[in-house]
Amino acid sequence: MSAPSLGGVSVPRGDGETIIRLRRGSSITDFAEKIDANPASLVTVLFHLGEMATATQSLDEDTFGLLGAELGYKLQVVSPEDEERELLDQFDINIQDELDAEGDDVLEPRAPVVTVMGHVDHGKTRLLDAIRNSNVVAGEHGGITQHIGAYQISHVHEGTARDITFIDTPGHEAFTAMRARGAKVTDIAILVVAADDGVMPQTVEALNHAQAANVPIVVAVNKIDKEGANPDKVKGQLTEYGLVPEEYGGDTMFVEVSARQNLNIDELIDAVLLTADAALDLRANPDKDARGIAIEANLDKGRGAVATVLVQSGTLAVGDTIVAGTAHGRVRAMFDENGEALDVALPSRPVQVLGLSNVPRAGDTFLVTPDERTARQIAEKREAADRNAALAKRRKRISLEDFDQAVAEGKIDTLNLILKGDVSGAVEALEDALLKIDVGDDDVQLRVIHRGVGAITQNDVNLATVDNAIIIGFNVKPAERVAELADREGVDMRFYSVIYAAIDDIEMALKGMLKPEYEEVQLGTAEVREVFRSSKFGNIAGSIVRSGIIRRNTKARVSRDGKVIGDNLTVETLKRFKDDATEVRTDFECGIGLGSFNDITEGDIIETFEMREKPRV
Ligand code: GDP
Repeated sequence: MSAPSLGGVSVPRGDGETIIRLRRGSSITDFAEKIDANPASLVTVLFHLGEMATATQSLDEDTFGLLGAELGYKLQVVSPEDEERELLDQFDINIQDELDAEGDDVLEPRAPVVTVMGHVDHGKTRLLDAIRNSNVVAGEHGGITQHIGAYQISHVHEGTARDITFIDTPGHEAFTAMRARGAKVTDIAILVVAADDGVMPQTVEALNHAQAANVPIVVAVNKIDKEGANPDKVKGQLTEYGLVPEEYGGDTMFVEVSARQNLNIDELIDAVLLTADAALDLRANPDKDARGIAIEANLDKGRGAVATVLVQSGTLAVGDTIVAGTAHGRVRAMFDENGEALDVALPSRPVQVLGLSNVPRAGDTFLVTPDERTARQIAEKREAADRNAALAKRRKRISLEDFDQAVAEGKIDTLNLILKGDVSGAVEALEDALLKIDVGDDDVQLRVIHRGVGAITQNDVNLATVDNAIIIGFNVKPAERVAELADREGVDMRFYSVIYAAIDDIEMALKGMLKPEYEEVQLGTAEVREVFRSSKFGNIAGSIVRSGIIRRNTKARVSRDGKVIGDNLTVETLKRFKDDATEVRTDFECGIGLGSFNDITEGDIIETFEMREKPRV
């Protein structure tokens, strides 16, 4: 394209092949720096392409693509994975898949990590309890197990003691949320199906998730103690979903259990181990710096940030410096699910870690760094990248042509939310549930622009101000100063301790944001008896009210012999004798003036009505 069409701006041009790599959330200024151009002229170029942006505003990939193509550059926005790899590369940390990189000699067997999934009320929680109680090691210690988000048991399998790790947040919400973030935690899924209820919607959902993640499934047919339990029916039903029991010639293990009566729990654990041994090669190198995933985290008044992490490879030791998502710190102490202090944690071990600067999110990866400075720098870079990405997402890209139109048509209707909660699992579950709300109207959207664990901060309020967002606090409150700020800025904050209450409210809010629908409601009719001509008001219809009431300033329609001769009129004047009236009732006489509409004769019917908002059902 020639220079004049760009508004006469001169910009260094590429040859159409030059590749420019930009991080997510980059701005025109970042791009300008790379091609040695003046940011202001790039803004002008973009403007001529029909897009408006400031020099420091984050742009999305499409906009960069457009701008790059115009100027002869191939712009690549680096993916989050690449970005993470590049970030760690800067610190000489290599996160290549170790099975590829490491030889057989350094890999040692590790415990399978199991998630229990299934329909609500089919017994997931109860089963996790039963499995925990079957633990031979805990039995010896007599320790009281605590909920830390995961636990490990030891089980004698074919004469050998074997460890197995269970993720202690039942349900697939956590599983899905973590998987959505690219975190693969689960090796094997136990699908719980109540024998008296059979396959239900969430059973199917859960098995879809597991199959999509390529995770082998062991089926626990639960509640076999109950009357009406029909395990064979469950087997038949699941066969349709590709889970074929061994006795029908398939390779899925089904175990009939009762979580309540502790029936066949050992058999279930055996089945998990058999499936793991048959289908998976679960090994890791314990002899290096640890890496893994944060499973759960919360902010404890006395102890600060407490995170449960699952070590996936290497060995985590007290004193290690780690970075988990945007949190960093030195491991001050580690505890297992029995509250026992640990010095080291080997692969597949879940541990509670104390000493992080803040709370990581469920699904964040963690790794050990050579020193604290590195951990802090990685955390800071991630935080900056997150912020930029959030900014890029927040800015709704809209071209000059559609902008006015979209506003005029009311097309942009997004409810922005900021979610804060006491534990990351709850925040993820809430977000998941909120995003599933369906109000049956594509024009209304919900967007979670920020989520996090801990009290509502000044930063949250500031973000809410910029984006007109509502802050949802789940089991958290704002600091006093923050509440004042929110009040001053007019930011709406809402607090819940029950997820469903939050979902209900948001759903109502979304429905309220829907464009109201109006319907015509008839108010009354009047018959014209005589027409008076008034130089000031035009023709006045001397009428008698036949039904309902005639009210001033309402909409009116005139018909003659059953045909509408005037529509969309307004009752501009209304008189009882010489006096102005606001309304006149049935059987009373009145004078009606319809503004400039003068075509009235005796016998005409004036019908008045108003538009009322239709309630949504
Ligand atoms: P979840 O929603 O899947 O976690 O289900 P829960 O573990 O909370 O169990 C739901 C209900 O089923 C509870 O009342 C349990 O006591 C009951 N339940 C769980 N397992 C069994 C079982 O094996 N037999 C019987 N009879 N009831 C069970």
